[in-house]
Amino acid sequence: MASAFPPDRPNPPDLVPFAEARAAVLARLGPLPVREVGLADALGCVLAGDVAAAEDLPPFANSAMDGFAVRGADLAGAGEATPVALEITGEVFAGTGRLPAVAPGGAVRIMTGGAVPPGADTVVPVEQTAVEGGNVLVRLDPGPGRFVREAGEDVRRGTVVLERGRVLDPAAVGMLASVGRRAVPVHPRPHVMVVSTGDELVDPGDPLGPGQIRDSNSWLLVAQAHAAGADAFRCDKLRDDPEALRRGFAMAAAEGDLVLTSGGVSVGERDYTKQVLATMGDVRSFRVAMQPGMPQAFGLAAGTPLYGLPGNPVSCFVVFETLVRPALRRLAGHPDDRLDRPRVVARLAGPVRSPQGKVSFLRVRLEVGDEGLVAAITGNQGSGVLSSCVAADGLAVVPAEHRELPAGAPVQVVLLREDLAWVTA
Ligand code: AMP
Ligand code: MG
Repeated sequence: MASAFPPDRPNPPDLVPFAEARAAVLARLGPLPVREVGLADALGCVLAGDVAAAEDLPPFANSAMDGFAVRGADLAGAGEATPVALEITGEVFAGTGRLPAVAPGGAVRIMTGGAVPPGADTVVPVEQTAVEGGNVLVRLDPGPGRFVREAGEDVRRGTVVLERGRVLDPAAVGMLASVGRRAVPVHPRPHVMVVSTGDELVDPGDPLGPGQIRDSNSWLLVAQAHAAGADAFRCDKLRDDPEALRRGFAMAAAEGDLVLTSGGVSVGERDYTKQVLATMGDVRSFRVAMQPGMPQAFGLAAGTPLYGLPGNPVSCFVVFETLVRPALRRLAGHPDDRLDRPRVVARLAGPVRSPQGKVSFLRVRLEVGDEGLVAAITGNQGSGVLSSCVAADGLAVVPAEHRELPAGAPVQVVLLREDLAWVTA
């Protein structure tokens, strides 16, 4: 955690190349300390140790069907013309603990999930039987052992069912419950505190006065952090006042594993955020060679990582997706090759322009064309125009060395949503 941030630039311009900014942020972060979490909290967490089954699954031999538990040998030769009659001597439901034994020539009614009673080794499905008085007539030999789910046939006690590093998805949570685990060691979901700054900000639902705008960034960032698998919380928005900012940032840093603040990191006259952050721990402001999203701040405030994002909502959105999200996933314990969103290659639907020396992230919609994927710009790309994000499937990456790219040029596209599997199919 000793490396300087931002990386020292020998000369102006002071722009930090995107890849260097990303690497420098990640170099300062490690996975959150391992904690035991209950099953109800485990979804999405990264498992920090192997989990072995403490029990057989299923724990006892049981019936896969509603029917009759029998001795397989009794049914040898059973057929349409030669039904075998067995005496019904008891019944077993799912959950029955005291089991009636099955004697030769006998049968016990059994429901799906019921324990196979002593003596029995086979289940005849009810559809293949007819009951006559106290007997059951069987017209088909299912074969010995049929329709019995053996103890441990899914998982044997002692087997590793989930390996360290595995993301706990719904199937994994179900497996943990099946083998009796109530809690598991994980890298916990990061607690993210989100702070908006600016005198102009008004919450949704409150009246909008002259010169005021809605605080969208805190809602946006909380949603993005949730979507990235974190637990995220909105803090009270902060006025452009150094003392209020200092107090607000300190409180957020004390509460969270990561603080996200937006606004005030640019060069405006009331951009106090930057000044205040400069007095907190080692947080430093810098400019990243990217568009949108150039002005940023990062460092440890009272030991807690703090990321200062630009105020313009689109800049905020893009900086989160490309720089903050990998940082969050690092805290959550994901390995290096799973920090970034997946990318696909698509061809540009039309020409695009991009500032020299900065990587551009253009909001695009993806379509399948005759020659593969096509990326079309989602209208006005201004850094305040949030509708360009709403319409976007991805961010097309125009590398820093290009000032323009023609229609048809291949570009990488960062996929913004998980329901885009069709583009890679
Ligand atoms: P700043 O970096 O504070 O000068 O903000 C740049 C632009 O982003 C200004 O137009 C701000 O009004 C706007 N902005 C800052 N914070 C927010 C926010 N939380 N929600 C929406 N817009 C914001
Ligand atoms: Mg501001």
